[in-house]
Amino acid sequence: MQQIGRGLLKQSLAAEPTAVSPEWWTQQAGEWATHDDDLKVRLFRLVDCMPMLDDPTTLGRHLREYIDDDVIRRLPPSLRLAIQAARSGLLAPLAARAIRAAVLAQARRFIAGSNPAEASRAALAQRRRHRGFTLDLLGEAVASESEADAYADAYTRLLTELPRLAAAWPADPLVDDGPDGPMPRVNVSLKLSALDCQFDAIDPLGTSHRVLARLRPLWRLARAHAAQVHIDMESHATKDLTLAIFRQIAMEEEFRDWPHCGVVVQCYLRESLRDLESLAAWARDRGTPVWVRLVKGAYWDFETVHAEAAGWPVPVWQQKWQTDACYEAATTFVMEHATTLRPALGSHNLRSLAHGMAVAEHLDVDRRGIEMQMLHGMGDPEKEAVTAAGWRLRIYMPYGELVPGMAYLVRRLLENSSNDSFLRAGFVKHVPPAALLAAPGPAASVHAAAEDAAAEDAAAEDTAVAAGPLAATGFHNEPLADFSVDASRRCMQEAVERLAARFAAGPVAIPRVIDGQRVESGETFSRHDPSDHDRVIAHVAAATPADALRAVKVALQALPAWQGLGWEWRADILEKAAGIMRRRRFELAAIEVFEVGKPWREADADVAEAIDFCCYYAHEARRLGQPARVDLPGEENTTEWLPRGVAVVIAPWNFPLAILAGMTTAALVTGNTVVMKPAEQSSLTGLRLHELLLEAGVPPAALAFLPGRGEEVGPTLVSHPDAAVVAFTGSRAVGMAIHAQAATASAAAGSRQVKRVIAEMGGKNAIIVDDDADLDEAVVAVVQSAFGFQGQKCSACSRVVVLDRVHDAFVRRLSEAVKSLRVGPAAEPGTRVGPLVDAEALDRVRSFIDVGRRTAREVAAVDVGPLAGRGWFVGPHLFTDVDPAGTLGQEEIFGPVLAVFRVSDFRQAIELVNGTPYGLTAGVFSRSPSHLHEAAAALQAGNVYLNRGITGALVRRQPFGGYRMSGSGSKAGGPEYLQQFLVARTVTENTLRRGFAPPRRAE
Ligand SMILES: Cc1cc2nc3c(=O)[nH]c(=O)nc-3n(C[C@H](O)[C@H](O)[C@H](O)COP(=O)(O)OP(=O)(O)OC[C@H]3O[C@@H](n4cnc5c(N)ncnc54)[C@H](O)[C@@H]3O)c2cc1C
Repeated sequence: MQQIGRGLLKQSLAAEPTAVSPEWWTQQAGEWATHDDDLKVRLFRLVDCMPMLDDPTTLGRHLREYIDDDVIRRLPPSLRLAIQAARSGLLAPLAARAIRAAVLAQARRFIAGSNPAEASRAALAQRRRHRGFTLDLLGEAVASESEADAYADAYTRLLTELPRLAAAWPADPLVDDGPDGPMPRVNVSLKLSALDCQFDAIDPLGTSHRVLARLRPLWRLARAHAAQVHIDMESHATKDLTLAIFRQIAMEEEFRDWPHCGVVVQCYLRESLRDLESLAAWARDRGTPVWVRLVKGAYWDFETVHAEAAGWPVPVWQQKWQTDACYEAATTFVMEHATTLRPALGSHNLRSLAHGMAVAEHLDVDRRGIEMQMLHGMGDPEKEAVTAAGWRLRIYMPYGELVPGMAYLVRRLLENSSNDSFLRAGFVKHVPPAALLAAPGPAASVHAAAEDAAAEDAAAEDTAVAAGPLAATGFHNEPLADFSVDASRRCMQEAVERLAARFAAGPVAIPRVIDGQRVESGETFSRHDPSDHDRVIAHVAAATPADALRAVKVALQALPAWQGLGWEWRADILEKAAGIMRRRRFELAAIEVFEVGKPWREADADVAEAIDFCCYYAHEARRLGQPARVDLPGEENTTEWLPRGVAVVIAPWNFPLAILAGMTTAALVTGNTVVMKPAEQSSLTGLRLHELLLEAGVPPAALAFLPGRGEEVGPTLVSHPDAAVVAFTGSRAVGMAIHAQAATASAAAGSRQVKRVIAEMGGKNAIIVDDDADLDEAVVAVVQSAFGFQGQKCSACSRVVVLDRVHDAFVRRLSEAVKSLRVGPAAEPGTRVGPLVDAEALDRVRSFIDVGRRTAREVAAVDVGPLAGRGWFVGPHLFTDVDPAGTLGQEEIFGPVLAVFRVSDFRQAIELVNGTPYGLTAGVFSRSPSHLHEAAAALQAGNVYLNRGITGALVRRQPFGGYRMSGSGSKAGGPEYLQQFLVARTVTENTLRRGFAPPRRAE
């Protein structure tokens, strides 16, 4: 291995200085960037948005914003001059254009052309150097069916035209001779996520079905035209699904004996060896070998950050040497199984490749059945060395448009500028061969680590700072279920099936429960599954005003005992409740699926949020339970928080567990007793919450459960002289009515308190799409924010405000994405848009759609077909040319209806967003730091989101709640929320007696 490695290294180094990154951008800029994290972030972000900056003014502005005076001082002189010229003076437009051209040229270095003709010319050039190629059309996750079609069509053209040309190319034994005859001359790599716009591991069956419908014709074509197809590997979340689809198609009768297909295994994944073992067993069974390209993996930063943010186990190795060691173990494994898994080693690490070559020689594997693979535009001297050593080398050649190419470029830049990169260590830092070729182990990473020890120390400090406050609070958000994991899907599916069977046996009887006594008599109403009218879920015993009076009375009597239990005791009860929810999370989520039509992921998130509320408020209660003291010599002051009394909780159906649990537990943990009124549409979820809170230890008298119609019991509860707090979440109309009722009752003769009303109301939330925005991300986020849970969230996006320059392109992509949304029953995992909550909601949303059709232009409308007869379904609708002051521009719709507005500049966009009485959520997609800054300062909303969707606030991380007509309380899930249920009382004692004061108390 050492001998082979030194040979390769010697030859590669001899080819310098055209080494790895001859151009200044990757080498020079990358070099400065590695020593300066802030600079790295700025440069990469600037590079990322470059293709969008096609006019000198915007370009100049971005250059000034990213490369400000502080950064200029940190740049080396040559670059400083160029950038200064571009930022100001007469030559600014010229210099700015030159910089843009340089960046785009750099991107093109990694890209083999913008169209198939250029790509095939580049491919032929590789063959002339005795190398093979695999062509990859740039583009990743697609947002619509038409984009997926376009991707498949491009491969169809490639696989139709290129093999014809290739047949005339002169033979090259090193490239063309395979283990069982000639290798296909044309080789393509493709990404499965680009073949289906709803590519999602939550629904393996549906996704496979749709992907295979586009993949099969491509495989057929490849087979017929003697080409090879390789499936790339993307994020860990889609890895199992990608492998499953690969296996499925490769096992199909028409392809089972076809050896010219392959898949990727990423060795930075901890589970890669296990995957290889199962691939080997499968391939043995198949009877025909497949190619396995071993890579380390291109998404290390993403996988790490994403998993950490989600609270999931990080799937990638955290030490570079572990990835290298895993790569070598995987190499040995494929070499040992080379007759079933044809080894393709994709790496620029000469240690990794030399190790593979040595193992191959040691095991005497036929070289024609092995190949080395490298990327276009990277490590060219290494390529010469590998070919000269007599190994087949295949070059991975992406081609296509620059905009999708930027994601690829940024991955390459990240790789090239990484402290751990072999290329950087070998060709830029000139680490000695012995260290470069050392076996992977903790010591081997020293070569990279030592020189940057200071940088790493600083990074470690950053991490400590980031983790600090989180760790200090002892609160962590409950991780959402990871539905790319088979076990999570199975648990949810089983819960859904169990519940469907339960409902088949008859509806659940929902009693009202006061003082622990269940009452089922009196008027009842039925609740139906919104996805299927025929399924009756529950018979609800509607509460009456008399029940309301009794419930408040019992709650009032229960106050002293509940308050007497103390903060710690009550906080423990909340944590027990969280534990019960955690154990029953899939069951609770399944109830939401049937009761309110929440798709799986949304239902699971609601349960997780309910758990968060319990844990966070328990934590906050322990903080507030400590009286605050300010003691001076001779004076002691103690401020403590006391419960207000009886709290009435009136909750909505759209987050049936989380909001009800949040308001109820906040009231309880602060020592109030509670009359809980769930929405009539979600009484079963409410009942389950009531049961589990009692199971956790809330005394029955302290928590009444009053399902029923709001208009019947609501006014009685709100106006009751003993109701001290009203916590409400719901519509603006009801919220304002509650404010009025509470005010009137508070002012009435004989009243002994001013009621505290906490009301979270609606929104008319908007997202701005700036003219430099990443449209790929903006389309996905707008769709998710507008149509997640059918737009029935108070945080949902119902307006998109788009800058003129990108308006048409954005609307085109958005409308295709909307048309591609899958509407279906909530119980099916692949459903993106489920039903509306009830017939009334359906009528209301339809009437808004009618208004839209009369007053605006409908650019997308999804027809729900036969679903309309089955449930309360309405398809997503998109309107343009909407009057900002009209109905669609002003009124909360609470359904899948989205209005698009065109504006000429950013300031106008902000004015338009702020031009409603609401102020709940707002967002902006922009890559201009000054615009992001402006939006953060000027958007009038309680929750402002930059470059992400505007729904899905997490407890503590994004305390949630609006102002203006969106709400009158402080933010749920935030540090001031509990105080609203409390009154503060301060006791001051003069401790001075005849000039003598006791010593000060320890604080
Ligand atoms: C032909 C070809 C095809 C490819 N196809 C794919 C593909 O389908 N999917 C894909 O994901 N990638 C693919 N890649 C990209 C590939 O993953 C990266 O180029 C590769 O990881 C770089 O590894 P290396 O051995 O060349 O370099 P090295 O410098 O030896 O290794 C760098 C790699 O180490 C890993 N690493 C870095 N820091 C750490 C750390 N702290 N802890 C653990 N690991 C760390 C990262 O994965 C990084 O990429 C392909 C590459 C080639 C050459």
